[in-house]
Amino acid sequence: MPFPIILSAPSGGGKTTISKHLLASRPDVGYSVSATTRPPRGDEVDGIDYHFLSPGEFIAARERGEFAESAEVHGKLYGTLRREVERVLQSGRHVIMDIDVQGAVQFRRAFPDSVLIFVLPPSADVLLRRLQGRRTEDSGALLVRLETAKRELASMDVYDYVVVNGDLEEAVHQVSAIIDAEQLRRPRAVTRLGDRVAELVQGVERGIAALRTQVEA
Ligand code: 5GP
Repeated sequence: MPFPIILSAPSGGGKTTISKHLLASRPDVGYSVSATTRPPRGDEVDGIDYHFLSPGEFIAARERGEFAESAEVHGKLYGTLRREVERVLQSGRHVIMDIDVQGAVQFRRAFPDSVLIFVLPPSADVLLRRLQGRRTEDSGALLVRLETAKRELASMDVYDYVVVNGDLEEAVHQVSAIIDAEQLRRPRAVTRLGDRVAELVQGVERGIAALRTQVEA
């Protein structure tokens, strides 16, 4: 059974890069394209990186109940469209999402079997450098992101896993290992195995019955 995977991190934590690598290396994982009211950055494409909506379009979609979660991040609206999540899950793939802490908690209420992973930068210096290196923000915007990062770091305890993104390859490997292990959790494994568990029990019972007959003969 495919399940949702949420990656959250303070801005500049590298979660987008991790999800891109996972999507490239695992055919069993798909991406849910979020909606946002912030304008596209650099070479971002509508419908691929985000669904870029006007505030009016976003609010109307929210009122129609189209979002599994939505939140205001850095003064802009962001939300996960239910239809995006369903599209990926129905194709048989796990769905990976890059959403902020407030959204992650709301999302888990809508999809309780979600796996929540928090991605930590290896140090404050690296986080600051990554944010400054982005060069798409003025200092006011950067300050807002740093304040958000501080708040987000304080919310780590709602997550199931923590991955430190020092070495990218290692972080991708760890997230991939989490997905593999989660597939083997008993309720998921039992659903996936279907009749095989019952057949196994019946086989053992047949063995016991055969042996009893031999012993008693
Ligand atoms: P950015 O504008 O840099 O792409 O994203 C800014 C923040 O918004 C990041 O923390 C990112 O995780 C969060 N974000 C992106 N998509 C969503 C979403 O669909 N829902 C929520 N709640 N947050 C999102």
